[in-house]
Amino acid sequence: MTAQILDGRAVSVAILDRVRREVDEFAAEHGRVPALATVLVGDDPASRTYVRMKANRCAKAGIDSHRVELDAAITTGELVSRIRELSADPAVDGILLQHPVPDHIDERAAFEAIEPAKDVDGVTRASFAAMAFDEDGFRSATPGGIMALLDAYDIPLPGRHAVVVGRSPILGRPVGMLLLARDATVTYCHSRTAGLAERVAEADIVVAAAGRPRLIRGEWIRPGAVVVDAGYAGNTGDVEYEEAAERAAFITPVPGGVGPMTIATLLAQTVRAARAHQTRRSRGAVPVRGEAMTKARDNYLLDLAASRQGYALNRLCGSLKDEENRRRFLEDEAAYCDAYGLSAEQRKAILERDWTAMLELGGSIFYTFKLAMLDKKSMQYLGGVFTGMSAEEFAAAMRSGGRKFG
Ligand code: NAP
Repeated sequence: MTAQILDGRAVSVAILDRVRREVDEFAAEHGRVPALATVLVGDDPASRTYVRMKANRCAKAGIDSHRVELDAAITTGELVSRIRELSADPAVDGILLQHPVPDHIDERAAFEAIEPAKDVDGVTRASFAAMAFDEDGFRSATPGGIMALLDAYDIPLPGRHAVVVGRSPILGRPVGMLLLARDATVTYCHSRTAGLAERVAEADIVVAAAGRPRLIRGEWIRPGAVVVDAGYAGNTGDVEYEEAAERAAFITPVPGGVGPMTIATLLAQTVRAARAHQTRRSRGAVPVRGEAMTKARDNYLLDLAASRQGYALNRLCGSLKDEENRRRFLEDEAAYCDAYGLSAEQRKAILERDWTAMLELGGSIFYTFKLAMLDKKSMQYLGGVFTGMSAEEFAAAMRSGGRKFG
């Protein structure tokens, strides 16, 4: 064997040490530790193991992990609701939905229920777009980990030909985009690619992400190439390891290559999300308080309290789980957006309950008060952000028709 090992385990230890220090600093500053919610649907043993490993690493790094385990028979709608609750939960900084979910579930819909600001596993469209446009955002965890591993060994990327085998939305596709953003020349291969052996043989860098054990033959590897094997089936990767290691300059082992880097990236991104979450909260709480209160009282709360209290408050305070209630609420909400002449962007943020966007879009802040009536957790979050009140105080103030805000 001639190749140097790309030792994901060793590199991840260094990253996790840094994460641990960052968690300690965060806790000292904010009086809490970052929190990651992991969602597991069903009881696939491999997925259960991955979630357990992630929770163990969280514990070692000092990150709080909340495990949410859901029955395999859950519907897409129920899963989406549960993830939306986590998205609105102020106690959660990051959300990981373990892939894959059972076949009957629309995984894309479930991923999109993750608030992009909490998408520490980089699975939402928003995160994907950020990767595609080379903008700030959360990296898909495995591709982000692969890039960090290549960087740890100073593997040059500009002008090199990278061949990515696999094009899944969470792995093949984003890793190709990240390599492209670093000026590699990227070729994607997939199950319909003709001449896979020839494509791989042209590669300076091979990323194997097909989930087909030993698909990539050692003899295909160009001498001196870099081989990154993301495949994982038992302890076997997508590359014929021994044979490839005879020809490659660098190679990842399986296990101990890409896997540990994925978890390290997830945890590093969770700390980043927690910091951003904290910044949003503190930014929102102080400067907008007085102004938001006035707007809320003048524009909406008193109006609501005076004319519609019995009707609307009771209805709006109803549970989100009541679909009919929620549908009527959203119709009302759309009418209000129109009546107040909100922009299409503001309207969209409100109707989709995109908290981050609402906080960013000036002039719509009072709507967040109204939306805060949707459920207790949102109430707690927004009550905390804008008023410093507890959920109960905030709810009582809302019930009193907003007069306590005066
Ligand atoms: P996936 O969604 O099943 O995608 C597999 C991709 O490989 C597809 O794009 C597929 O092509 C392509 N492919 C399948 N057979 C092929 C063949 N014979 N020749 C060329 N391409 C082929 O899988 P995934 O979720 O991306 O995962 C891929 C592998 O990475 C799995 O082994 C998984 O366990 C592993 N993984 C590891 C980590 C980690 O942390 N280490 C994380 C995630 C995944 P089509 O698009 O044409 O179907």
